[in-house]
Amino acid sequence: MIAHIINTDAGGRGIGRVYLEYRLSSFNFMEKATETFLDNLDKTLVITGFPIPPSMVPETDGPPGALALVRAVEDLGGSAEVLSYPEVLEAIKGFGVSVAGDVEVSNYSLIIAIETPGRASDGKYYSMSGTEIIRGAFDGIFLEAREYGIPTIAIGDGGNEAGMGNIRGLIERYIPLGRKIASVVGADHLITSGVSNWGAYGLVAQASLMAGRNLLLDWDERKVLTALKAGGIIDGVRKRACLSVDGIGLEVHEKIVELLKTVVNDALGD
Ligand code: CA
Repeated sequence: MIAHIINTDAGGRGIGRVYLEYRLSSFNFMEKATETFLDNLDKTLVITGFPIPPSMVPETDGPPGALALVRAVEDLGGSAEVLSYPEVLEAIKGFGVSVAGDVEVSNYSLIIAIETPGRASDGKYYSMSGTEIIRGAFDGIFLEAREYGIPTIAIGDGGNEAGMGNIRGLIERYIPLGRKIASVVGADHLITSGVSNWGAYGLVAQASLMAGRNLLLDWDERKVLTALKAGGIIDGVRKRACLSVDGIGLEVHEKIVELLKTVVNDALGD
């Protein structure tokens, strides 16, 4: 149910097909990712941030999901740090997140990447429209974690993000320009979603079901997007700072969050 909700292909970019076929081979991907999340959140690093060509300003998809994950980790007794671009960190500083300094990968018990570029087969990074992204990327940290055997969870919605290497074949088949943009960087667990933020909310919702309490209850999408807009963070589709993500208005995101909250409350019998 949660996997279906978060994979609503509201942007019509092809992730719906990818999700349905991914699910055929990995039916319980939400549950498995969430088990790893709950078992390893002691010292979590959350990586987020996707620069949008031509300005290379980061977008509004990713940081809200990262914030929701940080809060869930802390609610569950773990600690979490965020690694992102300076503008993102500045925009969300009012939410009291711990910022990762010089990352020493082996210090972490879990690494989550949400909506951050993953290198393609030619070693470059691409936007959904196939434009090269010219800005430092964080996927090397993700690759390093894989070498160390530190658990990794990735969340993406387009195919060009770190973690999507798990389903590169599906990205090449169903996403426009997939052959060019598909990332080769894999993850222990991959959560696909219609919008990457929704993937994070889905992970928090699934964790709520498994932990027995609703960790999404006080999530305020408007407050977070307002802070991002004020910080100049842009919608990756509209390419300007506004209260939207992936070209989809705030109200839709609020409804998705509301639906997830309601599903969790209902399942927990509240
Ligand atoms: Ca996105």
